[in-house]
Amino acid sequence: MSRPTPILAGNWKMNKTPSETLDFFRAFHAAYTSRDDRSVWFFPPALCFAAAREAQHGRSDIELGVQNVFWEAAGAFTGEISAPMARSAGATLVLIGHSERRHVFGETDAEVGRKAAASIEAGLHPTICVGETLAERKAERLEEVLGRQLEGALALLSAEAIAGVTLAYEPVWAIGTGVNATPADASSAHGWLRSRLRDRIGEAAARIPILYGGSVKPDNAAELLAATDVDGLLVGGASLDPASFASIASV
Ligand code: PEP
Repeated sequence: MSRPTPILAGNWKMNKTPSETLDFFRAFHAAYTSRDDRSVWFFPPALCFAAAREAQHGRSDIELGVQNVFWEAAGAFTGEISAPMARSAGATLVLIGHSERRHVFGETDAEVGRKAAASIEAGLHPTICVGETLAERKAERLEEVLGRQLEGALALLSAEAIAGVTLAYEPVWAIGTGVNATPADASSAHGWLRSRLRDRIGEAAARIPILYGGSVKPDNAAELLAATDVDGLLVGGASLDPASFASIASV
């Protein structure tokens, strides 16, 4: 069964203004030559989304998404944005259950599941993030934690919907720390996640992209992307600089 096309994704977190977004894409477009053999995704802050769209000038090689949505479509939920709103603003993608959502904002596995379901219902393609803390890894609870997060995220989805998601394995101890997982660690976690997906949806699991995220930089991107079962990279800090992300997207 054919492997998914590699995905190089940038998560800007709470960084950049709309005018900085335009500056970024001017420099990124000059530095990155689009290629047919990969997809490049960006997750700017919601307030920069319109600027990011404007900056694409219809380039079809770049897809844009939001970093989070609430599960309700509309209503008295001050400060939230909904999946239908994001879709109608032009987003095709959404990050769901990023570790900062889980650990800073207390998002639960069940909430991640509701957000994944609401995203698919609205026509957004979710990238569901899972990953263990250092304490959980040291306590040899990696599989228990990833399994629990995965089950929660997929709980409300049909087999057909599951076959359409992207996963991101992002060990919490590697995010923003400068300490990346080794390619072997990433392969092993991705292989385990894929085998759990296979239990749920059979051989279609082979086509689900599983991205690695956590301190990806231009100098470690190639070896991480080459690791078995790693189908792409989700990049935080290094996606904020156009030259650095162009170099990662070109590996
Ligand atoms: C992330 O935000 O998803 C991430 C992996 O961050 P960083 O690349 O900075 O570790």
